[in-house]
Amino acid sequence: MNAPAYFHAESLDMGNKADFPILSRLVHGKRLVYLDNGATTQKPQSVIEAERRFYQESNANIHRGVHWLSQHATDLYEQGRERVRQLLNAAQANEIVFTRGTTEAINLVAQSWACSKLSPGDEIILSGLEHHSNIVPWQLACERTGAKTKVIPLNDQGELDLQQYKQMLGPRVRLVAIAHISNALGTINPVTEMTRLAHDAGALVLVDGAQAVAHQPVDVQEIGCDFYAFSGHKLYGPTGIGALYGRYDLLQAMPPWQGGGDMIRTVSFERSTYADAPQRFEAGTPNIAGVVGLAAAIDYVLDIGLERIAAHEGALLDYGTKALQAVSGVRLIGTAADKAGILSFVVDGIHPHDLGTILDTDGVAIRAGHHCAMPVMTRFGIPGTARASLALYNNRDDIDALVKAIGAAQTMFGVER
Ligand SMILES: *Cc1c(COP(=O)(O)O)cnc(C)c1O
Repeated sequence: MNAPAYFHAESLDMGNKADFPILSRLVHGKRLVYLDNGATTQKPQSVIEAERRFYQESNANIHRGVHWLSQHATDLYEQGRERVRQLLNAAQANEIVFTRGTTEAINLVAQSWACSKLSPGDEIILSGLEHHSNIVPWQLACERTGAKTKVIPLNDQGELDLQQYKQMLGPRVRLVAIAHISNALGTINPVTEMTRLAHDAGALVLVDGAQAVAHQPVDVQEIGCDFYAFSGHKLYGPTGIGALYGRYDLLQAMPPWQGGGDMIRTVSFERSTYADAPQRFEAGTPNIAGVVGLAAAIDYVLDIGLERIAAHEGALLDYGTKALQAVSGVRLIGTAADKAGILSFVVDGIHPHDLGTILDTDGVAIRAGHHCAMPVMTRFGIPGTARASLALYNNRDDIDALVKAIGAAQTMFGVER
């Protein structure tokens, strides 16, 4: 993405670390350099405050109370749904189902849609860079229905092979389930084009947006996908809350997947009838405070602007890529032409876990391992990588601290530099 005019690529700092209280704490007596944003992001004061204020001033159960506080809590919850609609540019708020996160959103579609619509011999296309959350739910659905999965291969840069994809789109394909952005490699997949191709072949498309919503503008109508899943905690919001976008006609034709309060119209021991979507998929008391916190997180990123966030992280990714490439013995894994702020790498002579542990003593928090994407590691013939993943509060100092700590680890291990 090209940097807009107001963005000064030289600054590489959005100047908002102070909004995140945790970033001023020390770890092992060092400044916390938090580069594990692909796993979860830190929370701004406004999100922490919104959740606290909900419990202090607005707490009640939703959708069934006649009293003022319950109606107030219901309003806040439904305003949260409208905020998610706005974030994704969905056509209607009732296309947004609240879930615990991406994992639950994908399981909802796998169990409700796939288990009720697929037959033996039907096919689901996945890709070689999927998170386990976008693999295992489909395997479970296939075990129950007799459908099978097919996998789009990756090239050496970690990009999907679109020629292969086109050839795989045969008449038995019912669904394509792909990540918007790979958490292990940073690859940004061409989801709009892939959706168009899938639709031409008569298949639906689910996009796993866990790594996308916090880092670039997302427009589900422009992508044209049928389902889109994300988690609040990777978007500067609380854990335990996320959402599924689903085209309304599809949601309305899907059976419930969990039964309980709030998802029914009438209940008798002979037979129950179900509420319309999205309530049909929100059985039981939901994470109301989580929705309030998520709404505050969405306000936070929309106030800054996702274009601006993408430009900042893109500039920092360039800076970090060049800095790591300049360190001998470091090899980047995932070098797609279209890439988000994820630096996955291996260092000669140092196991990723050892590297992560040593960096931690310098206050540098990165992730080491397979990143819940074991097939990616198998594809590149490595047990795992070290991964630094960027967020809007990271700056050039954080990258410099990472590079310095890698150098210190190489010295400690006596690895040739
Ligand atoms: C984190 C992640 C998930 C799972 O998200 P949860 O919040 O753990 O449900 C799925 N897909 C991708 C690409 C992810 O990065």
